[in-house]
Amino acid sequence: MIVGMKCAPTGVKKIGQIKILAGLCAAQMLAACLIFTLTACARQNSPDTPQTVSSTLLPNAMNSDDSAPKPSINSARAMQYVRDVVAFGPRPIGSPNHKKLENYIVSHLRGVTVEDDAFTAETPEGRFPVRNIIAKFPGTRDGVIVIAGHYDTNYPLRNTAYVGANDGGSSTAILLELANQFRGKKREGYSVWLVWTDAEEAVKQWSATDSLYGTRHLAESWQKDGTLKKIKALLLTDMIADADLNIDQDMNSTPWLEKLVLQAATRLGYQSHFFGRSIPVEDDHLPFLHMGVPSADLIDLDYGYNNVFHHTPQDTLDKLSPKSLEIVGAVLMETVRLLDKM
Ligand SMILES: [Zn+2]
Repeated sequence: MIVGMKCAPTGVKKIGQIKILAGLCAAQMLAACLIFTLTACARQNSPDTPQTVSSTLLPNAMNSDDSAPKPSINSARAMQYVRDVVAFGPRPIGSPNHKKLENYIVSHLRGVTVEDDAFTAETPEGRFPVRNIIAKFPGTRDGVIVIAGHYDTNYPLRNTAYVGANDGGSSTAILLELANQFRGKKREGYSVWLVWTDAEEAVKQWSATDSLYGTRHLAESWQKDGTLKKIKALLLTDMIADADLNIDQDMNSTPWLEKLVLQAATRLGYQSHFFGRSIPVEDDHLPFLHMGVPSADLIDLDYGYNNVFHHTPQDTLDKLSPKSLEIVGAVLMETVRLLDKM
């Protein structure tokens, strides 16, 4: 699908509804694009940006407290969450399945402080209820670490067999499993808020106004009530369960935070799954980034060869692996640990 697109010098490239700002490959660049589509395209818009991990992102020498226990998650349970979520079928905003999933998420957060950021979004397809779900795990330090991921699925594909196992399903599931990890434990560090973001997907065609409905609203709400100032870092997860896991280095994300993520991954021996490719990604972190919140998007936009499964009915459970959920879940936990020490 990528190689079939034409070059656009002004360069807004859309891969499904997560767009990559990039000059697009011309047909005559087909052969090169087959191998280097995204990195090559990214270079056109960002001549001074690296195609591999910048040396500034390489981790520092490991700290001396390497004896700290290495975090892990229950990846079998996380994978079961993905199966449960996928079993609802397509979960676009405004659908009964979306409502079922909202209830499913909240039902797994008993005993946790849960807040809603609910509103009605005006979209090119009409008005829809949107609900960001926030689970709060208080810490001893003043400040908040947000871990977020969207739970809605692609709207234009709502009447197909599309189930968004990776795109929508994996992010929902990893947050549910992280809730299990944080629940009932005293946090010696910043508060952690898990946010299931809603209406990430465009309803018609991705644009600044047709996308990220939930997070645009949440960032604004948090700016108005002063919450935004307290957020030390926002870690976003999206499409993180591909069995062939290659988390991209997002050139829009905050470099020091990505560096910390890579440091966490390296300590756990998972660095080979991170940042092999640098591309700019538009995703739920943008509204927060634009308001000054340090943010990092952990996303694998190489879902199947040339991202061929993304936003297609082929985004199904058989492409996913619990090991990938384990890798991302553990790296998130380790990143939180590193943030707590800063
Ligand atoms: Zn999507």
